[in-house]
This record gives sequence, structure tokens and C-alpha cells, in this order.
Amino acid sequence: MRRIAILGSTGSIGHSALAVVAAQAGRLEVVGLAAGRNAGRFAEQVKRFRPRAIAMATPEALCDVQAALGAGGSTVDSACAGPEGLLAVATHPDVDLVLCASSGTAALDATLAAIEAGKTVALANKEVLVMAGGVMMTAARRRGVAILPVDSEHNAIHQCLRGHDPADVRRLILTASGGPFRTRAAADLAAVTPEEALDHPTWNMGPKITIDSATLMNKGLEVIEARWLFDTPPERIDVVVHPQSIVHSLVELCDGSLIAQLGVTDMQLPIQYAFSYPDRWESPLPPLDLVRSRRLEFDRPDVSRFPCLAHAYHALRGPASLPIILNAANELAVAAFLARRMPFDGIPAVIEQALDAGERLATGGVETLAAVREVDAWARRQTAELVSKVESS
Ligand code: MG
Repeated sequence: MRRIAILGSTGSIGHSALAVVAAQAGRLEVVGLAAGRNAGRFAEQVKRFRPRAIAMATPEALCDVQAALGAGGSTVDSACAGPEGLLAVATHPDVDLVLCASSGTAALDATLAAIEAGKTVALANKEVLVMAGGVMMTAARRRGVAILPVDSEHNAIHQCLRGHDPADVRRLILTASGGPFRTRAAADLAAVTPEEALDHPTWNMGPKITIDSATLMNKGLEVIEARWLFDTPPERIDVVVHPQSIVHSLVELCDGSLIAQLGVTDMQLPIQYAFSYPDRWESPLPPLDLVRSRRLEFDRPDVSRFPCLAHAYHALRGPASLPIILNAANELAVAAFLARRMPFDGIPAVIEQALDAGERLATGGVETLAAVREVDAWARRQTAELVSKVESS
């Protein structure tokens, strides 16, 4: 029985993770659950999965949960609100594996605490490695903790790398769906509306990551994650556009052989892989039907139309502060686009300016989460100014 905690249980990854728990009866025990503010859904999860430790983002949300639970919350012996709650769930002594699927920077401390407490980490939160990859991987190495990627591309690469000598690996190849504007002319991208951008062809996700996938920034963030997860320099990480999202990613070996992982587009598969690793379990999901998939296409990403991908490579090659600035600038730029304060092509423009400003800023190493937060706060102030300039121009 593997004992797990899920940070971010009411989000889409958390929802899929609990579906895996339900399907794998007798193999997984939910010891801890943490969520943001969705008290109604959270209370249902607690009643069904009977965790011992729970946490909500705010005291109000926790009160709502406790009221909804009534006698149904009798299995809970630890209930906490705010960042301390997230930490308590992430470090609960009975937990073997922590699924980090909560968004935002509170997840940084919780993930690091889980690593320090010796837990296996299944990572679904992008910011954690984009902002603090060096901090996390150093701690994981020191504690001998495995960080298992849940993101479908990195999970695929993790699978492709198994059984191969790291010295035989030439390149990692991340696949990208290309987003809804894959074939859109550069001149038409400025007029793209939030509604069009939110209509993703293959994956159904939240608004921020859907826009990231339309700008290709999602792939840029994934290149940065891959650098840390697989200790591979950016020049050995490539991106290929693959609109069908069936090949989840590939590894190229020194003899030119490509090892790929293919599967249906359902997050339950990578989540189950992380839960079962190093074993494999049967899945109730239907296998991929290759004949019905028919056509698999691959194309080079066009960085002239989608400069966010180039910005991410640029940030990764620079000082450790640049990926933090990239991440913060992107978050604010995407929010400004969704609020109709800025056109779609303003997103890469603002990020480029924020990175330029960041390069003029002399920063030392970014070796602690406090240092990460400092750069992040600076980047947010800087980007807010840049966005208001675009808005007033
Ligand atoms: Mg992905």
C-alpha cells in the first residue's frame, strides 16, 4: 500500500489523481489532501477518501469544509489553513509520496519541505522547477529523494530513459501540440481574442496553461523543467510540434534511435505511472488505438510567430534569475491579455522587455527560496509597469 498526499486535490490533476486512487483499490491510501477554496468539492473528497490530514488555503474555507463534513470528518486528525496547512500535509509522517499539483508559489515551500522530509515527490506544478529548479534538485540529491514528473511530456521522457545509460542519450525531444494558432499567419496573431485562445485542440486545461499552450510558452517552461528533471543542458533539449498529442515525447540515443512514448491523452496515465513507479499497474483506461489514430504529423516550431519559446531558451541559458523573471512576466502578461488589457502578441513583447530589464539587474546566485521570491517580486513589479505602458500606448 502506497500512502499518498495530494496538494491541490480539487484541481484537474487532483481530480484525475483521485480517479486513479479509486481505480487502484488496495494499492493507494490517501493520507493527506490539501486544496485552495473549493470547500464543497473538497468535503466530498474527504468523505470518500477519508484522509487523516487536510488543509485549505484560508481559515474560512477550512471552516466551510468542517461544517460540510460534520460527523463525516471523523477520520481527520489534523486540519490546518494557509501555508502551514500545506506544509503539514506535505510532511505528514505517514506519507510516502506527495503529489504536488497546487498552483502558485505556496507550492514552492511545500515541495521543498516534502523533499527535506524524505518523501518521493510526484510533480505537476510547473513553477516549482521553473522558478527553483536548482534549489529543488540540490535538496533532492542531498536527501536521495526521487522527483517523478507528472506533466505528460516529462513523464514520457522519464519512461523513455528507463533502461538506457545516460551517456547514450543524445537529445530529449519534447512534443508540443502547437496550440490553436499553429497555422495562423503572423499578421493575424495580434487580433486573436481570449475566447479563441482558450479553445485548445487536444487537452482540456485551465485558462493560464491554455494560453501558455497557444503562445508556446508552455513548451518553453517545459524545456526549463526538463533541464532540471533530467540534468540536461538546453542545447540537448529540442521541441517538435506534433498536433495530435499522441507521441507524448521522445529520447534520441547516440546511434540515432528514437525512443518514444505514445498513449491516449488522459492525465490519469502519467499520474498512475508516478504513483506506481518503479512498478507498473494495469489501467482501466482503453489503450491507444494506433489504427484509429491514423496520422502522426511533426513540424518544426516557428519561433518567429511564437517567440515565447525562444525567450524560454534564452532565459535558461542566462543567470538563474532569468527563468524566474520569465515565469512572473508571463503570468502577468497572460492575465493582462485575458483581461483584454493587451493584445495576444503583447505577451511575448512584454516578456522580452522584462528579461532585458532583468539582465541589466545584477543578481547573485539564487540558492534559497527567499532569493527566488525576491527576484519574483521584482519581476512582478517590473512587468506590471510594462503592461500599463502597453495599455496606455
Ligand atoms: Mg505538458
